Amino acid sequence: MKISSVKGFHDVLPDESARWSWIEQRAREIFARYGVVEMRLPIVERTELFSRSIGTTTDIVEKEMYTFTDRDGSSITLRPEGTASIVRAYVEHALQTRAPVSKLFYLGPMFRRERPQKGRLRQFSQIGAEVIGRDDPAIDAEVVLLLHDLLEALEIRGARIELNSLGDATCRPAYREALRAFGEAHRDALCENCARRLELNPLRLLDCKVPECRQATAGAPLMLDHLCDACRVHFDAVRAVLAREAVPVQLNPRMVRGLDYYVRTAFEVVAEGLGAQNAVGGGGRYDGLVKELGGPDAAGIGFALGVERLVLAMDDHVAVQSPLPDVFIAPLGTAAESEALHVAHRWRRAGVRVEMTSGGKSLKSQMRLADKVGAPYVIIFGDDELATGTLTVRDMAAKRDFPRAIGLALPGAELRDALAQLAQQTLERSA
Ligand code: AMP
Repeated sequence: MKISSVKGFHDVLPDESARWSWIEQRAREIFARYGVVEMRLPIVERTELFSRSIGTTTDIVEKEMYTFTDRDGSSITLRPEGTASIVRAYVEHALQTRAPVSKLFYLGPMFRRERPQKGRLRQFSQIGAEVIGRDDPAIDAEVVLLLHDLLEALEIRGARIELNSLGDATCRPAYREALRAFGEAHRDALCENCARRLELNPLRLLDCKVPECRQATAGAPLMLDHLCDACRVHFDAVRAVLAREAVPVQLNPRMVRGLDYYVRTAFEVVAEGLGAQNAVGGGGRYDGLVKELGGPDAAGIGFALGVERLVLAMDDHVAVQSPLPDVFIAPLGTAAESEALHVAHRWRRAGVRVEMTSGGKSLKSQMRLADKVGAPYVIIFGDDELATGTLTVRDMAAKRDFPRAIGLALPGAELRDALAQLAQQTLERSA
C-alpha cells in the first residue's frame, strides 16, 4: 500500500526546487541592499498569539488554524503567517534595546486549513519582511520600494502593487460604522457570510468575491473618503515618495486586508496568469500590534509574498536549473568502476561536480545518461585508460574526443583547469 501526502500538503520536486532556491537567493540579495536581516522563527506558537493579533473574527482564526492541545494541556498552533511571530520575538527579546529600528525578514512554511485549489495550499511558504520602530511615511515608502525591487528581481509577470489606506483608531471606527450601516441597508442582497459578519467585521464586505455581494456594495462608502487629517497627510506623503521614485502603484480604495491588525498604509501585489488566486503578496502597517502583544509602543510595517505563487508567476524565460555536473565519468568494467569511484571522490573533494554510474552499464547507455544530466564532458574510463594511466575526454557539445589525454593522477583543481581550457578551445573552434 502506497502512502500519499496529506491533502493540501505538497512536495517540491527537484525540477521546481531550483526555482525556489533562486527566489530565496535573489530575495536575500535585495534584503541585504536595504539592510534587512534574517530571523528564523519557530513553526509552532501559542494559539493566543494569533487570536490576539490576527483577530478572532478573521477567516484565519475562525476556521483555518491547525490548533492542537499539547500533552501538557496547552493550546498550540502551526503558524498561519509570520508577522505575529516576528512581533512576539521582537517583544520577547526586547529588540528595541538593540537598535532603534529593526528590519527583519523571514522565510518558511505557513499553515492554513483552506480549501485546496490551484495556488491555494494548506502548507505554503512565505517570504516576508518587517520594519519595526518607526511610523513615518518615509518608512512605508521604503518598504514599498523594497517590495517593488524584489518583484523586479524575481521577474514576476505583470506584477502590480495596489495601495490603500485603512485609516487608524481615530477615523476607522466612524468609517466602520458607516460601512456597517450601508451593509445593514442592503442586507438582503448580501451573501450569507457577509450578512453574518456585518456586525463584527464589516470591512470584509469590500473584498467579498461573491458577484451579488460585489454588485450590492458597488456604492459602499470608502475609507479613503473618511480618513482623518493625520492619516490623510501620512498617506499623501507615502504616495509622494513613490511618485518621485516613479514606482507604479495603483490606488485600490476597496482593498482591505484579511487581518485585523492593519492600520493606515496597506498594499497587495497581484500578478498575471494565476487565475482566481492572483494575489502573490500583501502587507501593511500595524502600529498597535507590538503594544497589543505586550511590547513598547513601537510602530511596524511589513509584507509577505507566497513562494508557490511566485513560482507560478515567474516569467517562463527565467531559466533556473540545479547546477550541472562539470564532468561525467563513464567506467567500463569492474576494475575501472572501483578506480572511477576513487578518482571521483578525489575530484569531488577538490570542488569538481562529478557524476558517474556504476553497475556495469554499456558505454552507449552511459553516454545517454551523461547527455540527460547535461554533463559537458565525459571521461571514458576503460581497461586501456587504466593500463596507461591516461583518460580520454569527450566533448559532448562538439561530439568528439579531446585529442590530448588528461592524466589519471590529475588532482581535482587541475582537472577543472583542464576542462576550462577544453571549453575555451571548443569555443575558439566553433568561432
Ligand atoms: P496573507 O498573509 O493572507 O496576506 O497572504 C500573503 C500571500 O501568501 C498571498 O498573497 C499568497 O501569495 C500567499 N498565500 C496565502 N495563503 C495561501 C495559501 N493557502 N496557499 C498558497 N499561498 C498562500
